[in-house]
Amino acid sequence: MIVKIKELLLEYRTGAGAFPVLEIPEWTIGAQEQVVIFGPSGSGKSTLLNIVAGLLPPTGGSVEVCGCELFGMSESLRDKFRGRNLSYIFQSFNLLQGYTALENVLIGATFSPGARPDRNQAMLLLERVGLAHRHHHYPSQMSIGEQQRVTIARALVKKPKLILADEPTGSLDPHHSGEVVRLLREACGEHNCALVVVSHETIIAREFERQIDFRQLNRAQADGGGK
Ligand code: ADP
Repeated sequence: MIVKIKELLLEYRTGAGAFPVLEIPEWTIGAQEQVVIFGPSGSGKSTLLNIVAGLLPPTGGSVEVCGCELFGMSESLRDKFRGRNLSYIFQSFNLLQGYTALENVLIGATFSPGARPDRNQAMLLLERVGLAHRHHHYPSQMSIGEQQRVTIARALVKKPKLILADEPTGSLDPHHSGEVVRLLREACGEHNCALVVVSHETIIAREFERQIDFRQLNRAQADGGGK
């Protein structure tokens, strides 16, 4: 298993007291498995990804990633563990504007302890996402879909075991959304990397064999699930 969650509880504290956002009795993802989690906004999907990425300590429960208990580690070990094993793709691409496509991909490798940025590997990945000929272009010279394809190459360059993608197509039209998700799925398959995509778009959910309805998975209904 690449992710194994047990008795997960996450409460946020506000002036009005603590309110539960996540209550997940059990959830697993197999090595190289690809899943989409769909559900309304405000229901806790990003919060779950942040926990699996080791960015947000839960209130209780166990979170194992690649066989390691994430929150049994010190924060600095967890940062290194994340750098080595995980990549995160966001809706807003977080490409560095002052760097070319190739440099942005190479930057993905510099966050992985022990990995040496490899220009040839980065070029191969840009080729894989159909952008080798644009390697010297800056993000502002590319369309939104092209920029997201660069982030896919950047996510893969350090050879992660798991990619977490939070609304990766949120800025794209339906045609380009489908294209980017298919590319992401194919590239993860080729690199033996598990993939968890979070989305509120049903068009994205349909691209996956394993679809997880977040309202079934999560017993806490933070926002009533109405949005
Ligand atoms: P989703 O990704 O499904 O849109 P989120 O995980 O972003 O949902 O948020 C789940 C709920 O937790 C929302 O009601 C949100 O307002 C609340 N929330 C998120 N972050 C915080 C925080 N740091 N403090 C308090 N409440 C938060």
